[in-house]
Amino acid sequence: MVNSVVLKNASIIDGSGSAPYSGHLVIKENKIDSIHQEDAFSQDTEASIIDLKGKTVMPGLIDAHCHISFDEPRSNDELFFHRREGLAAIIAGTNALKVLQSGVTSFFDADSLYSVGVDLRDAIESGVIVGPRMAVGGNALLTSAGGTAGRLIPDEGKRGYGAVVTSKDEIILEIRRQIKMGVDWIKIHVSGMVPRQSSEGELKAWSLDELKLACDTAHELGIPVVGHCRGADSVKDALLAGFDMILHGTYMDEEGLEIMIERNVPLVPTFTFQANLIDYAEKMEASTDYKEIFEKEIQDNVPIFTKAFEAGVPFICGSESGFSVTPYGDWHYKELEVFVEKLGLTPLEAITCATKNAASAMKRDDIGLIAEGKIADLLVVDGDPSKDVTILGDKNLIKHVFLNGKDIDLTPAPKRFKDPDGWRISAYSNKILEK
Ligand SMILES: [Zn+2]
Repeated sequence: MVNSVVLKNASIIDGSGSAPYSGHLVIKENKIDSIHQEDAFSQDTEASIIDLKGKTVMPGLIDAHCHISFDEPRSNDELFFHRREGLAAIIAGTNALKVLQSGVTSFFDADSLYSVGVDLRDAIESGVIVGPRMAVGGNALLTSAGGTAGRLIPDEGKRGYGAVVTSKDEIILEIRRQIKMGVDWIKIHVSGMVPRQSSEGELKAWSLDELKLACDTAHELGIPVVGHCRGADSVKDALLAGFDMILHGTYMDEEGLEIMIERNVPLVPTFTFQANLIDYAEKMEASTDYKEIFEKEIQDNVPIFTKAFEAGVPFICGSESGFSVTPYGDWHYKELEVFVEKLGLTPLEAITCATKNAASAMKRDDIGLIAEGKIADLLVVDGDPSKDVTILGDKNLIKHVFLNGKDIDLTPAPKRFKDPDGWRISAYSNKILEK
């Protein structure tokens, strides 16, 4: 028997940016079979019918920046030195379910501890565990100048999510090795927080030649390249080298913006991490240094980002979920809120950034939209997110999540489990004793 579900009387936000309309949506097997605006339509008598009066159906959210293997570390020290491969993979399975239950039907994990990303994606695709669709990178490529973890990055070899490449030969070798292991993307930390740096973003840690070599090597094997770039030079050189997506992109200058527009490269600002740290600094006992840096980063970049959006750069929502500041399952919607509040997007525009536009992070055009023939990855929410995107962050209002046409069990995954032995940093004290 064909699995058939009718979602009746729904307000439909299709992800394209068009205004919501009311109608009935028929799911057959894993696809959106048909959409009807008239009440009389021939429907399968065997179909299960769900009445969605007062509710909205929209494409499932796609989070284009989620670190599923990290398990919410409070610091880079914890992330780089306190994680074990097998346990990280097992825990990531539970965390993936939390992500799905929050309405995220796909996410992009650009870099991973060990090979957890590829393994988790394959386990989900094989039906071993239930989780969102995944697109994955392997270890982020870094030079010995480091990435966002400063001196914790070794001069060579691997640590945490990073693989340090020390020569052109190593760049080629590492990229080909990752592609052989099955990555969907290559991730490069183009910029890094080098000690004693200036305050406008991070320093570029790669030469343009090295970035071009990396892109050519990946592209020849059909794999796209995504860059962590904070700073004008790193954005510009990544774009010149042929990068397919830019994460952060802050402190981009006019020249960089021109190239981004011309090449139509998507941008994933990922302000959620900063926004959460600013909003909840006291509650989390966060460092005031970080709070100041992040407030400045958002403020400084609103003008160039607004200009980029108006010029047609595809904006994509990514939450940087996976840190203590951005726990799994809670904050995937928040980038939409930041886009509306800080960048002045309409709620519908922000929804497009988290659905249709974000499908490009997955390199798929069969998801991210409600249209006949698309895959039925859907989110049903009580209320109207085209008026207020924050309702997408209220779990009580998430009524159904359909993944591949299947109505997912929303019985909550375990919220936080007991920390396994040695999983977190144990400090002698949080402050130094003052006499
Ligand atoms: Zn990240």
